[in-house]
Amino acid sequence: MLPRVTTTTDDDRAHVFHSWSAQAQITPAEITKAQGSHFWTADGTKYLDFSSQLVNVNIGYQHPKLVAAIQQQAERLLTVSPAFANDVRSEAARLIAELAPGDLDSVFFTNGGAEATENAMRMARLHTGRQKVLTTYRSYHGATAGAIAATGEPRRWPSEPSVPGIVHFWGPYLYRSAFHASTETEECERALQHLRDTIMVEGASTIAAIMLETVVGTNGVLVPPGRYLAGVREICDEHGIVFIADEVMAGFGRCGEWFAIDRWGVTPDLICFAKGVNSGYVPIGGVVISRTIADTFADRPYPGGLTYSGHPLACASAVASIGIFKEEGILEHVRGVEETVLRPGLKALAASHPSVGEVRGVGFMYAVELVRSQESREPLVPFNASGAAAAPMGAFAAACREQGLWPFIHFNRTHVVPPCTTTASEMREGLEKLDAALAVADTYTTS
Ligand code: PLP
Repeated sequence: MLPRVTTTTDDDRAHVFHSWSAQAQITPAEITKAQGSHFWTADGTKYLDFSSQLVNVNIGYQHPKLVAAIQQQAERLLTVSPAFANDVRSEAARLIAELAPGDLDSVFFTNGGAEATENAMRMARLHTGRQKVLTTYRSYHGATAGAIAATGEPRRWPSEPSVPGIVHFWGPYLYRSAFHASTETEECERALQHLRDTIMVEGASTIAAIMLETVVGTNGVLVPPGRYLAGVREICDEHGIVFIADEVMAGFGRCGEWFAIDRWGVTPDLICFAKGVNSGYVPIGGVVISRTIADTFADRPYPGGLTYSGHPLACASAVASIGIFKEEGILEHVRGVEETVLRPGLKALAASHPSVGEVRGVGFMYAVELVRSQESREPLVPFNASGAAAAPMGAFAAACREQGLWPFIHFNRTHVVPPCTTTASEMREGLEKLDAALAVADTYTTS
């Protein structure tokens, strides 16, 4: 090998075009090593990761059994086109189908989350013969053409006018209720009525699907109240609309369940998954499909495919990851540490910091919403703030990093989304670091 004359940063800045970024304004930190719940940057700093990268490293970094499974598969068979049958692909599909609720028993594999939501919308449109898809404001469904059109937040704006046929509506979010509700029950009932009204004026016969993040992820960790998801299911049944649960972020342990929707005992028609299924060790995602929708394509070809659909390396890692979740009781671990450390710890932070407006979440998926004033609920930085307007969140993030904590920050929130394998003592340590960083956020409060 030739000796290297440029640094990683030189090559990165000269040749790597980064996602969502003004290329001249970034200097990405270089990760050189990672293990369990921690990673190290090139300057030797060790970070406790409260972000799981992009909320995908559910099993922690470099899990030895997952690394070994990938190594073994690499030696056995590295690539097979989607048209062939393959042992690890079949096994991954069976395991995922066994975990999915109801009659969702076949899997279309993709390379990630956006391709999963794209294909779920396509399946729903072809199955129903209708065109519109309803999604919520404050949602993210991916960055390809259809997925970004479905997205209900500012990342969609630069792509507009975009793919037609998407209608956005408001989902439940009691802390900033679009329905002037003051209780969970009111929020739930009014959000369902709003959905019914939207369907009435859009025309039920034009609507193929309602696609929801079961628990809204990046846009706020919005946990649906009581009967909301059951109500959506009923509305879909009433009008022959396909219910798509986007579990790309919420699935595979993040909410203490295989699929987050299991918490509410509701069965959607299609589930989109990616991220946590194999912790992103190899790119993979997919759609779990109900028998009825799969039957639509029994004697009619499904018009969609990907060269790497069901890639053996990715499928072998999904099989191994599901096995590790079961052997190591990771779902139980998440629920236990949430109950004993995370939830009480965050509640204590909310009680002692004037900048904390609300903490909410489920499993290892929590948001801490920061405000100027607990009384007015004015966000610590405005919606979609950047530059100087975002400075208070920048200062808070810097304070986290100084403590050796890597936060996940979106608008006026920090999300607590560490690997699902994070131990109780690591979680306590992370909360102490958060406590120290929140003192910086407190200096921006007005009351
Ligand atoms: N859906 C949800 C809920 C997500 O959180 C994401 C990514 O963050 C996606 C879809 C898109 O996934 P990907 O980035 O793998 O395309």
